[in-house]
Amino acid sequence: MPLAPATWPVASSVEQIAANLAAVRHRITTACQRAGRDPASVRLLPVSKTVDEARLRMAYAAGCRQLGENKVQEAQHKADAMADLTDLQWSVIGHLQTNKARQVARFAREFQALDSLRVAEVLQQRLQHEDRTLDVFVQVNTSDEASKYGLEPEAVAGFLQQLPAFDRLHVRGLMTLALFTPEVDRVRACFVRLRTLRDQLRDNAPAGIDLDGLSMGMSGDFEVAIEEGATVVRVGQAIFGARATPDSHYWPVAANGAG
Ligand SMILES: *Cc1c(COP(=O)(O)O)cnc(C)c1O
Repeated sequence: MPLAPATWPVASSVEQIAANLAAVRHRITTACQRAGRDPASVRLLPVSKTVDEARLRMAYAAGCRQLGENKVQEAQHKADAMADLTDLQWSVIGHLQTNKARQVARFAREFQALDSLRVAEVLQQRLQHEDRTLDVFVQVNTSDEASKYGLEPEAVAGFLQQLPAFDRLHVRGLMTLALFTPEVDRVRACFVRLRTLRDQLRDNAPAGIDLDGLSMGMSGDFEVAIEEGATVVRVGQAIFGARATPDSHYWPVAANGAG
């Protein structure tokens, strides 16, 4: 069965956002039941890129205490504007250039797209300076698209061996973006690949490198991801509504389309 393309109405009240959150949580619970998993083992990370401050304050009122942002500038701007919400935590989930790492070290609680030692080095330096730590997920390219960010699966073992040198980075697991395609089998294959890789790497992971986390699944495919072991699902549009900005603004799209 293909994944149904969805159009999400824009949520612009506390009630609408709360209703969408409840619906997503219900779908998480149902997917967990299907997979024989405890719903408490899946964290819902609401993704708030392009959503303005007023609606983010509604999300906070609806109970959100974590928000995921793809672009550092936008994330930092929002974190500054909402610094009064002291228990609101920011997760940067998009590819990072080294010149942006300094900002991430300042305000983010979590960074889900680590894929280079150079970025790890800069983060470590800046986190030391700020006397902070950062939870990180290592991003893996599971779709074989040359244009996608993330390490090749074969490179992850060697990469993990280097990470204990960066003691300000607390590795929590692996993250991936699946293929963008309505063919559910091809989407599922990406999630299976991430879980299988994690299972292979877990035994030989260096001390202190925790690979329990699997961040995978978005609005269109999070139930499939949960069936395949996701512990974090990153969901934007199913909570806040459709975005006007095309996804190609946030990650490179292969020239041959989504497959
Ligand atoms: C935007 C984004 C998501 C969420 O996508 P939705 O379609 O809004 O659920 C997940 N992961 C990353 C890396 C993103 O940039």
